[in-house]
Amino acid sequence: MRDFNPDSVAFAKGHFIAGAVIDEPGERLTVARPSDAADYAELPIASVETVDRAVKDATEAVKRSGWATRPPRERARAMQRWADLIEAKAEELGQLEALGSTRPIAQAVTGDVMGTAEGIRFFSEYADKLGGEVAATRTDHFGMIVSEPYGVVGAITPWNFPLSMASWKVGPALAAGNAIVLKPSELTPFSTVRLAQLAVEAGIPAGIFNVVQGTGAVTGDALSRHPGIAKLSFTGSTRTGIAIMKAAAESGIKPVTLELGGKSPQLVFADADLDKAANCIAGSLLANAGQACVAGSRLIVQRQVADALVAALKSRLARVAPGPTWKSSTGFAPIISELQARRIDTILARSREQGAELLLGGSRIEGHGGAFYQPTLLAGVTTENAAVREEIFGPVLTIQSFETEEEGFALADHPEYGLAAGVYTADLGRGLRAVRQLKAGTVWINRYSRTLDFILPTGGYKSSGIGKDLGRQAVEANLRHKTVLIDIGG
Ligand code: NAD
Repeated sequence: MRDFNPDSVAFAKGHFIAGAVIDEPGERLTVARPSDAADYAELPIASVETVDRAVKDATEAVKRSGWATRPPRERARAMQRWADLIEAKAEELGQLEALGSTRPIAQAVTGDVMGTAEGIRFFSEYADKLGGEVAATRTDHFGMIVSEPYGVVGAITPWNFPLSMASWKVGPALAAGNAIVLKPSELTPFSTVRLAQLAVEAGIPAGIFNVVQGTGAVTGDALSRHPGIAKLSFTGSTRTGIAIMKAAAESGIKPVTLELGGKSPQLVFADADLDKAANCIAGSLLANAGQACVAGSRLIVQRQVADALVAALKSRLARVAPGPTWKSSTGFAPIISELQARRIDTILARSREQGAELLLGGSRIEGHGGAFYQPTLLAGVTTENAAVREEIFGPVLTIQSFETEEEGFALADHPEYGLAAGVYTADLGRGLRAVRQLKAGTVWINRYSRTLDFILPTGGYKSSGIGKDLGRQAVEANLRHKTVLIDIGG
């Protein structure tokens, strides 16, 4: 991985509809680089009419190209060629991702781009392994459950891992035989267009993967309401998830998959390997500077090991390598925007007014142009404290302690969120009791964070979401099921 010059990266700045980059006159958004806050591009905002055009073109493309009806191996092969091309262009795609997002180049190439290619490969393998069921009916009948693609599905993605999040939506949708219209975040819009261009270069028919650019209020809303979108998948904040569900419901009936926010606990028992726990917890907090939905942002630790664990965390969090995302030496991500950094400031100030005690960090890392935040530890917090309740989306860890297992499980439970949880213990029975007790879509034991095991679905309990990304479940969610009953006589 080499450093690169952010001013020398070339990329398409429009929508990608029916296989072509399309610009449109009208209102534009200025897009800034998180690393140095410099404005670097203008973005068109897809109007209701442009979204309509993209959906209609995608509907035509499904018919014209036979994407859903061709031999499924062909679909698998096209997606695999696409994955190979993504890998071959890893440096280029990684630069584009690093340029406009919070992802440092070294992580963008080896993590985001390679993970995207492998994820597309994983989903491609479903293309010819889907089918239906023969049902147990009376023997003079023959009953089947047949699965079919929806046609055109919609997706709306966030800014924190633009390529990965797009691939989690596009992979299962295309493998199942659908076309997709995707709106990336207006903060990180460009790498998704390159991903779609590569799909066409790899032989996926034009119009099967379309990208519409714009704001949530205009473009995202139009996509959510469009009657030609048969199914909608969203990743982002819980607040937006609610707005999208409402908009979708107001315009008809369509299933909605929602991957939303989190406030995930890290529950550490006294018998745990503290070194390992400290590595996992620090790693989760530092990853993308805490701007990850599954960030394990609430430490809940058994009292007798609390001091030792906090000391181990402090030493791991004290040294970070902030810098521009185009430097290969950068290891610690910027905050996506000044607005988001101010939000972190505000929650921290409220939390401290409510009695939180600062053990580490608590302010900006100055001198980089963009907004960077120090890894921050907050003790002396109750379940009512702002920093414990609200998703901060920054490198902030709250610390609470407990005596008994029951108290630990009770503190781990969040009133609103249930995305993921980490449990650290040497007692297998306790680990399994935690699995039963914790209301979270993912429970990690003696480890934390996702792996490249795409077979494991991800999604939330409670207000962290509905449905799953990844795994067989994501493919199933892109199919609908038809019941067939045939009178065969006899
Ligand atoms: P966000 O909700 O602000 O925006 C996400 C997307 O929704 C963007 O593309 C935005 O333009 C669009 N949008 C905004 N308002 C809209 C509306 N009214 N109608 C339609 N679309 C609209 O989220 P964000 O700040 O981009 O991302 C951070 C959030 O995403 C965090 O809450 C994080 O936890 C969540 N997230 C969840 C997962 C998961 O798998 N559960 C993964 C990554 C991020």
